[in-house]
Amino acid sequence: MTATQILTKLVSFPVLGGDSNLSIMNWIKDYIEQFDIETYLVPNEEGTKASLHCRIGPAIDGGVILSGHMDVVPVEGQDWATDPFVLTDGGDGRLYARGSCDMKGFLACCLAVLPKMSRAILKKPIYFAFSYDEEIGCLSAPELVEHIKSTYTEKPKYAIIGEPSMMQPIVGQKGICVIETIVNGSAGHSSRIRQEVSAIHESARLIIWLENKMNALVEAGRIDDRFTPPHSSLHVGQINAGIAPNVIADKSLFKWDVRVIPQDVTEDIIAEFEAYCQERESILRETFPGFEIKNAQHHPPVPPLDTAESDDAVAFIKSLTPIQETGTVAYAAEAGQFSNGGFQSVICGPGSIAQAHRANEFIDIEQLDMGVEMIRKLVGKLS
Ligand SMILES: [Zn+2]
Repeated sequence: MTATQILTKLVSFPVLGGDSNLSIMNWIKDYIEQFDIETYLVPNEEGTKASLHCRIGPAIDGGVILSGHMDVVPVEGQDWATDPFVLTDGGDGRLYARGSCDMKGFLACCLAVLPKMSRAILKKPIYFAFSYDEEIGCLSAPELVEHIKSTYTEKPKYAIIGEPSMMQPIVGQKGICVIETIVNGSAGHSSRIRQEVSAIHESARLIIWLENKMNALVEAGRIDDRFTPPHSSLHVGQINAGIAPNVIADKSLFKWDVRVIPQDVTEDIIAEFEAYCQERESILRETFPGFEIKNAQHHPPVPPLDTAESDDAVAFIKSLTPIQETGTVAYAAEAGQFSNGGFQSVICGPGSIAQAHRANEFIDIEQLDMGVEMIRKLVGKLS
């Protein structure tokens, strides 16, 4: 099957982040097993989802992991000109479908080269590592990485994360965490503002703390010019609270994210915020003993990626792709998780992130061809 034929099949599985991915996973598993390659599954607790990995080639140190995710983002509310789950050749050099670019295109490239890979006499192995629930917080990659490490006796060296980068080697990425903060105050007539604790007023204080924290990091010189913006950002994007101007709000909820440059640590920033929350709790419990601030992370922090230009991985990926200038990206992906797992990691894949997550998502046929070419080269290099 060609990459386009495989991509046609892959996009027909409308598996969103959060959904069961067994349909697409089983199709990929069956496809891989045709070539007498053993596959390993890393299921979730309920058995409704699973990541898949496999090794092609010998059990020798120094192999290369090709990583991608099988889930996509929803299409609701988007104005699509074609059926998003049918790969449509627009006649304009582009193939349209949800996931064509992010990132089933890369999966299709890997699978299209598999016949050649399985026939080659590889001196070092190639691994496929395909995850689920990437789009809702890179949830399955940590377990997948651990499973790879415990399954194989040999140690892979590199991980190529095939997120759309227009085949540019990406060596840096911000980390991210999304947090929900719930403030429980006490309700009352607005004239009693000194006797009650307004959840809105306290939320405002906490939100300003977050903004001040961001500014303090910048002032402390925590700058990385490879990124836009070149500092860690903290931002509150949603707030719900209150019922009327003359009623003190007893409940407030706000959602925020922290996107860190590699030199900052998400967990440290959150810990500092939580310490401030505790300080406020102890002060305000004198007025209202039930006062409480609760923080919940939507998902564990996704670590940043910070691969040094001097790492072997950079020279290695440059030998596979025509784009020689490295870059950084602002979006979150699984690269930091693979890097934390001990594999030198870079992002490099076909298609542009500008086309991801939107209506009429597409991949240029030329990009898909370049993705196939990269993996062919990889096979050649390892043979
Ligand atoms: Zn993606």
